[in-house]
Amino acid sequence: MRSDHDRRDTRAPAAPPTGRAATPLISPSLANQVNRARVLQSLYDIGPLSRSDLARLTGTTRAAIGTIVQPMIDSGILAEGDPRSSGATGGKPARPLWFSPSGPSIAAVHLLPGRVEVALVSAAGDILATANGRFRPDGTDADAVVETVLDCLARVLPPGGTPPMGVGVAVGGMVDTDTGTVVKVNLAPVLDGLPLGRLLSRRLDLPVYLDHHPRVQALGDRWFGQARGVQSFASLYLADVLGVGLVLDGAVQRGQAGAGGEIGHTVVELDGRECECGRRGCWETIATDRWLRDEAVLLGLPAAPSMTTGSLARLAARNHPGAADLLDRFARNISVGIVNLQQILAPGLFILHGHAIAGGDTFRRRIEDHVQARILQHAAGPPQIVLAEASDHVTALGAAGLVLSHTLRLIA
Ligand SMILES: [Zn+2]
Repeated sequence: MRSDHDRRDTRAPAAPPTGRAATPLISPSLANQVNRARVLQSLYDIGPLSRSDLARLTGTTRAAIGTIVQPMIDSGILAEGDPRSSGATGGKPARPLWFSPSGPSIAAVHLLPGRVEVALVSAAGDILATANGRFRPDGTDADAVVETVLDCLARVLPPGGTPPMGVGVAVGGMVDTDTGTVVKVNLAPVLDGLPLGRLLSRRLDLPVYLDHHPRVQALGDRWFGQARGVQSFASLYLADVLGVGLVLDGAVQRGQAGAGGEIGHTVVELDGRECECGRRGCWETIATDRWLRDEAVLLGLPAAPSMTTGSLARLAARNHPGAADLLDRFARNISVGIVNLQQILAPGLFILHGHAIAGGDTFRRRIEDHVQARILQHAAGPPQIVLAEASDHVTALGAAGLVLSHTLRLIA
């Protein structure tokens, strides 16, 4: 006699409910890929780790970690460090795993108006080689720009060596991240509409990823800087222009085809000053070096036409009349956009890059005070404002982070 259980087994599979797409299960090979990426993410977030450390962090056994990391050691991505003591409990000394110096590297490109900076970056974030080139920003010869980028890349890539994982390109202007095309760079019209990602990828036979400079900078913070292991934060670039890269819940925010992130052009004064973009009252009109210089000229401060946050902070420290007040007004203007961002998305951590770093901790504290005075109180507490550690290679590291994000598919 057939049981109820047998009868159920012989039924035809139920059709999916109307209007609902089938949800495929994860294949074993995809599961391996995800586990591998999670192990690498732990190393990026924390630093060199032993198999036992990784097992604890990922909630699995040391043996399971061994199975995941061994192919990466065999293929030269990871290497075992010198044994370290396992503590008072004795046992086999742990050997921390870290990225092999001879493993695959990453090519990083920063496209500026009239200039290109290229670096070769190791998977661990070391700068291995750099090269620079120039092009005519106002010209019409886009092919010459592509050749300049390729020439710089050829100078940093070791001939006959292991090809890099990919090429990350930071562009100081609007980009279409879906197609890898430069949309518009105000100071370099030669780049407008250039499908640089596709052109480079075809010539190099490598994956190439383009993104907006502040978002690339945010990825540099996330992979190699002060936001390592942090799930939500904002990375601000404050200099002659103003940009913000946002990472929320572990994903960099791009908006449709990368159109988001133009926060410098959100309006903070309806009848404010005219902006470079042709409209009025953008945040950028009151929170960049240009505003600072104009105000310094009006006040008759020394070296006003070349005033920067650093030189103003030095004047204020010497009690030069008007300097401390101007520094405070500049900090207040910067705080306005930070408050708006925090009220809408609450990233909780703001990392300041660019010329603002030279303002030092005095300037940082003034921004923080203005933010706290304007923000609605919440149990999560006020956002933290920190200065980025000054580095010549922030963008190169970010471009490397862009390639890692796409390759490992963890931080999107
Ligand atoms: Zn504007």
